[in-house]
Amino acid sequence: MLSYSELKKYISALEDCEFFEDKDLTSFTTFKLASTGDLIEVKSVEALQKLLPLLSQNQKEYLVVGWGANQILPPVCDKIIIHLDFPFDLNSLSDIKNEYEFPASLGLNHLTAHAVKFGLKGWEVFTGIPASLGGAVYMNAGTNLGEIGKMVTKVKLVTPNGILREEVINGKSFSYRHNHFVKSGEIIVFITMIHAGVDEGISVKIKQYLEYRKKSQPLTTKNCGCVFKNPNKELQAGRLIDLLGLKGLQIGNLRVSPKHGNFMENLGGANWDHFKAIVDIIQYEMDHFYGIEFELEVKIPYHL
Ligand SMILES: Cc1cc2nc3c(=O)[nH]c(=O)nc-3n(C[C@H](O)[C@H](O)[C@H](O)COP(=O)(O)OP(=O)(O)OC[C@H]3O[C@@H](n4cnc5c(N)ncnc54)[C@H](O)[C@@H]3O)c2cc1C
Repeated sequence: MLSYSELKKYISALEDCEFFEDKDLTSFTTFKLASTGDLIEVKSVEALQKLLPLLSQNQKEYLVVGWGANQILPPVCDKIIIHLDFPFDLNSLSDIKNEYEFPASLGLNHLTAHAVKFGLKGWEVFTGIPASLGGAVYMNAGTNLGEIGKMVTKVKLVTPNGILREEVINGKSFSYRHNHFVKSGEIIVFITMIHAGVDEGISVKIKQYLEYRKKSQPLTTKNCGCVFKNPNKELQAGRLIDLLGLKGLQIGNLRVSPKHGNFMENLGGANWDHFKAIVDIIQYEMDHFYGIEFELEVKIPYHL
């Protein structure tokens, strides 16, 4: 097994991989809690196929970050952060197709712009979700219009031993904010998507939904989206937090959004301890008053 300093030399020598030591990772999540750690930018699938076996064989744990819109990194990350930045020609979105293959690093905003332009039915389900496509598929991101998983037919992944494997999507591949096919250490690299035809009304629907989101969610603040999963379809986590009077609760510079109870806002300089403290209070109160165990939706690669 290689020492970490030897391993770093091998990684730095890989084509299409850039290694950054002790990188400030704060801007790699939308919540922007202070974090530092080692980061690798990967610019091709071939590079990822060489990188993952190198890390696995040398027992170095890693974690992939997309847009970091539903993820919190700790103050010091001891896992290597992998960030994908695969090339994609946006001009290929100037025509409508029946089927598309996109890289995991592509932003959902480009797909929404394409759906508005051509009125693609089915693509309204991810309106306004800040995400890389890989992160959105991993999370089966969705709105009350539906979930992205319904539009996905195939996913290509790189396994920890560097194999490019294809997963054909079926009715059991996804559930609420969850996928059932990404195995430990695998990274999504390409996604095949379809649409359900063309409907001119879709463009209007997307624009109206964007307006609705602006009014109902604190989109301009530093946050990580919904912190907790809804206990079920009828019980919205944000509404329950609101009913307990916890909107506006503030610890340090972190507060429960006054606009939406399931969002927490970093008002500047909030840290991991503030987050943990607010989560503890909410989970305690939910259990105490409603007997509901509140599960985190936001991904935390370490135990709280
Ligand atoms: C203002 C705001 C509003 C939001 N609104 C919504 C909403 O309406 N609906 C909704 O569902 N979510 C919402 N979110 C949460 C977030 O946008 C989604 O969960 C999104 O899917 C996260 O994508 P990401 O690229 O940021 O992934 P990240 O947050 O970076 O990662 C999320 C998880 O996916 C894994 N992952 C990421 N990329 C890959 C990959 N290529 N291969 C394997 N695993 C991967 C990560 O390791 C992590 O476990 C919101 C967030 C914000 C900040």
